[in-house]
Amino acid sequence: MRGLVSLSWGRLATALLLVFVHLNLAAALSVPRFFELEARTRADLDANTVRRELGSRLSPGTLIFGPSDGKFPATTARWNTFAPPQIQVVVQPASEADVAKIVQYCNANGIDFLATNGGHGNSASLGTFTGVQISMALLRTITIQPNKKSAWFQGGVYGGLVTKYLWERGFVTTTGSCLYGMVVDNVLQLNVVLGDGRAIRVSPTSNSDLLWGMKGAGHNFGIVTSFELNIFPRGPDTWHYHNYIWTGAQLERVFTSLNRLHNNGSTPVNMALNFGFFFMNTTVSTTDPILSWTFAYRGPANEAEALLAEFNAIPSVYNEQGDVPYSGVSKVQGNAEDDFICQKGNKRITTTAGLQVYNLTAERLIYNGFRARAISHPTLAAGAGILHEGYSTAGVGARNPADTAYPFRSDHHLMLFNGVVPPNDPVLEELAWEWANEVKDMWNAGQPTRTENNYVNYANGYEDLETVYGREPWRLARLRALKQKYDPQNKFRFYNPIVESREGKGKGKGKGKGKGKRRSFQG
Ligand SMILES: Cc1cc2nc3c(=O)[nH]c(=O)nc-3n(C[C@H](O)[C@H](O)[C@H](O)COP(=O)(O)OP(=O)(O)OC[C@H]3O[C@@H](n4cnc5c(N)ncnc54)[C@H](O)[C@@H]3O)c2cc1C
Repeated sequence: MRGLVSLSWGRLATALLLVFVHLNLAAALSVPRFFELEARTRADLDANTVRRELGSRLSPGTLIFGPSDGKFPATTARWNTFAPPQIQVVVQPASEADVAKIVQYCNANGIDFLATNGGHGNSASLGTFTGVQISMALLRTITIQPNKKSAWFQGGVYGGLVTKYLWERGFVTTTGSCLYGMVVDNVLQLNVVLGDGRAIRVSPTSNSDLLWGMKGAGHNFGIVTSFELNIFPRGPDTWHYHNYIWTGAQLERVFTSLNRLHNNGSTPVNMALNFGFFFMNTTVSTTDPILSWTFAYRGPANEAEALLAEFNAIPSVYNEQGDVPYSGVSKVQGNAEDDFICQKGNKRITTTAGLQVYNLTAERLIYNGFRARAISHPTLAAGAGILHEGYSTAGVGARNPADTAYPFRSDHHLMLFNGVVPPNDPVLEELAWEWANEVKDMWNAGQPTRTENNYVNYANGYEDLETVYGREPWRLARLRALKQKYDPQNKFRFYNPIVESREGKGKGKGKGKGKGKRRSFQG
């Protein structure tokens, strides 16, 4: 499918333009810049050259550096090193206006560019990139608007920063929870740099057709330099949290209670942040993974504990509870930026699924599969975590599914298999892929009447496009029409692309090894 898309307009457009350029070349030998598809290629790209040619055009404070710079490793570090982008030079713009200039410079020199923010992007399609990383790390200004109903955020902000900033000023927004729907449901307008280097406003009155695409597939269309998002009064001063560790023996009771709590998408709205893992904790057992669950409730302990009574009745190995400001919830739930789960530099094998309810048989089989690996391949088991997310999703389901490019509003649970493998161990890596696909298959087999859905931000890049962007034919058709209009050169093709690389950069085509399910982005 991706090949067809590429041929249908991407390659054709390229071919026509090349003919045009060649004709001009033959006629004049020198080609004006504006006739060239990609004016030059820059095989000898290095930071000194970029600094010399581009540096003076950018704002003071902008940083340009390459692999020999001490800042390079941290700036290019990835959460998943399975198929990392190949970064030749990093440019860290100090102002939003610089982003367009960097893109224009890259285009004029035939250099690919990739915006990065947190480096958590997981898709193996990122591994097809070689070129300039536009690091958004210096663009982190947040400006609350006078009406206190929205704020402008620059393109380099991230969840923890936003949560803390707003909380201290009496507000919250859609970071971490879905109380008010998803982030995309609350975006009012965006400033975007397109692939040709034009800076545009995307709003209900300006380039309004693109607003729909930016809400769920924005990485295919441009670099967001800033965006305006709804904010809300922060509500109660504290959130109640309760963390539990159960043994596998309690699995059926735990999932029965989880299904009752979530009630097929009707999770009590204030029971906002709930998730759990299967993982090894050898102080509990060297063969049996634990079930580690955490619940965070927007409000006082008595309200939360009434909803958690069933869980309190399940004998646990350990549990702890407390009350913290919202800005402290990620820390007590173990997913703050300095926590293990966010740690960068590991080679990870992942698969995902979207569910409505937990299937007890599937979960027992998945647990038993984990236990088998703990015995047969303890190294593999030691680095693995099987994530089950169950946020309160009423705000997500309340929106019209057609309003945004996000297609899976009827999924209530996001699942992620996350295996960590050593850098050079193809045998263990293959075993991890088998395991990852097995878990995914079990999740999907546990909901035989539903389709396979892969949340774009958890997708590993090998999934079929329809399972990521939606099966309704109009969805991909609409995205492709927007792509043709706003990024005809397919400059944004490195993160779960809706149009595959026209240069065939996906290293090696065809199916991979993991039960015929893997595509071939891997380097
Ligand atoms: C530990 C962990 C927990 C997570 N939890 C959640 C969760 O609870 N909910 C959820 O929805 N997702 C979650 N995710 C997924 C996360 O949202 C995605 O991985 C996301 O793409 C990460 O963005 P990033 O900026 O960190 O990554 P990057 O790799 O820097 O960027 C990812 C993609 O976005 C593009 N990009 C970055 N900045 C910009 C910009 N300013 N304009 C345009 N494009 C840009 C990049 O080019 C790249 O294609 C989680 C991921 C991890 C690793």
